[in-house]
Amino acid sequence: MTEGLPLAGRGVVVTGGSRGIGAAVVRLALAQGADVVFGYHSDEKRASALADEMGAAHPGRRCTALRADVADADEARRFATAALERLEQLDVLVNNAGMTRDTVFARMSRQQWHEVIATNLDSMYTVTKPLLMPLVKQRSGAIVNIASSSGLHGIPGQTAYSAAKAGVIGFTKALAKEIGARGVTVNAVAPGLIETDMTAAIPEDKAELLKSLIPGHAFGTPEDVAHLVCFLASGRARYITGQAIEISGGLVV
Ligand code: NAP
Repeated sequence: MTEGLPLAGRGVVVTGGSRGIGAAVVRLALAQGADVVFGYHSDEKRASALADEMGAAHPGRRCTALRADVADADEARRFATAALERLEQLDVLVNNAGMTRDTVFARMSRQQWHEVIATNLDSMYTVTKPLLMPLVKQRSGAIVNIASSSGLHGIPGQTAYSAAKAGVIGFTKALAKEIGARGVTVNAVAPGLIETDMTAAIPEDKAELLKSLIPGHAFGTPEDVAHLVCFLASGRARYITGQAIEISGGLVV
């Protein structure tokens, strides 16, 4: 029974749903009554395990994992089209897949720059494009794009990532204005430091220094972010659009 749940009967697409923040969104969206198609890139075993676990936990609801490199335009487009076919209807797109290649700009190669821009920013175009018109025609729905505090404030060692995530925020605000009249909201969520594989690579001494910049002295959890994403994906947030909402525990960058 999903009646009364915030995402009851909604069809949700999540990129990068196999682990970290994306996996927390997949879990919470299903718990809140949605059918979900999620993407992954490299870790098929983990993606299949999550889909199986969700299938067992939520009988009668759909949870499908599809592989695609969102940095590759053809693969991203095929993923979006296949996701659309798997869902009875589409209501929510969460553009979450992302990665970092941290290095100071003086040492950054052109390839590192392009990988970061392709995965974090170009994917906004390639994944959103095939899914936009179904939402617009339906005259309801939500797009939630995962940005970063790095895109809001700029973080040294992350010039490409900061540029890509600032681009995600600009894309979000412009698209929100284009399609607001069609009943589709577009918002960005900008996490600070969240406990995932992405931050696990930070050396212990640097992690402690970063925690000292957070009023509560702790990183957030993927579930903290998932609750905000699922709220923005629900009808309860119907009057919120074009926003970039930071979720960082008050991180002072
Ligand atoms: P994560 O644990 O490293 O997980 C990344 C997810 O994205 C995985 O599901 C991965 O799939 C997928 N992915 C990576 N590259 C991909 C590609 N080229 N094509 C398709 N999927 C790809 O990352 P996370 O920390 O959860 O981050 C999720 C989002 O939040 C990202 O956009 C990130 O930039 C943003 N963010 C994170 C933090 C943080 O502190 N963690 C802070 C600010 C913003 P595979 O498992 O198959 O590789």
